[in-house]
Amino acid sequence: MPLEIVQIPVLSDNYVYLVHDAASGATGVVDPAVPEPVLAELQRRGWRLTHILNTHHHPDHVGGNMALKDATGCTIVGPEADADRIPGIDIAVAGNEGIDLGSQHARVFDVPGHTRGHIAYWFGDSRALFCGDTLFALGCGRLFEGTPAQMWASLQTFLALPDDTRVYCAHEYTESNARFAVTVEPGNAALTRRYDEVRALRAAGRPTVPSTLGEERATNPFLRPDSQNLRATLGMAGADDVAVFAETRRRKDTFRG
Ligand code: ZN
Ligand code: FE
Repeated sequence: MPLEIVQIPVLSDNYVYLVHDAASGATGVVDPAVPEPVLAELQRRGWRLTHILNTHHHPDHVGGNMALKDATGCTIVGPEADADRIPGIDIAVAGNEGIDLGSQHARVFDVPGHTRGHIAYWFGDSRALFCGDTLFALGCGRLFEGTPAQMWASLQTFLALPDDTRVYCAHEYTESNARFAVTVEPGNAALTRRYDEVRALRAAGRPTVPSTLGEERATNPFLRPDSQNLRATLGMAGADDVAVFAETRRRKDTFRG
């Protein structure tokens, strides 16, 4: 049975996800920024929370941890490298380890860059990737605690996954990411088409997340340092991939548009 996934929009642009294994009743929540909407959704569906899966320590990802643990007695799973910054952590996991949610299994990837201890959860049987603030639709996380080389290595971990992987990122940043993307890769027709789709979805008040990894591979400039069109825009025809990625990230940091 596939993993059931429920997307809960909270705060101004965060997505929290319930992940439910119908066979066992096990239910996790990925990056609960706040507790109330999570408890309300659990009650509405008659699900009992068994796990919190944190990707990294930022308050808009762990803010609901303690209240949810108090209310449900759930087990909190988070990154070993940042265990001291994850409130209430019970199980610390690192890359190449895994975590079971009833009959569902998630592989853990170490994906540092946004924070030093960022991890992602890959439910391979369901082709579902929970990548926190590492990869966004048409974007990637800011480098608060890591280097461009670390972040590029982290993104390459995702690039090894199948194209039909659904990318459950933690923020609805897609429209502003798209505005930037078309300035650095103006000759990418798939990107131009996607920008139109994203604008239409947002105008209708609908989410643009999840996307697929195949779409990201074709249109997300942070996954495309080998693109000749991107390189031409940046004036970096002969540079290595890390340098092109770093320059793309640097330009996004100061982009106003
Ligand atoms: Zn963050
Ligand atoms: Fe965040």
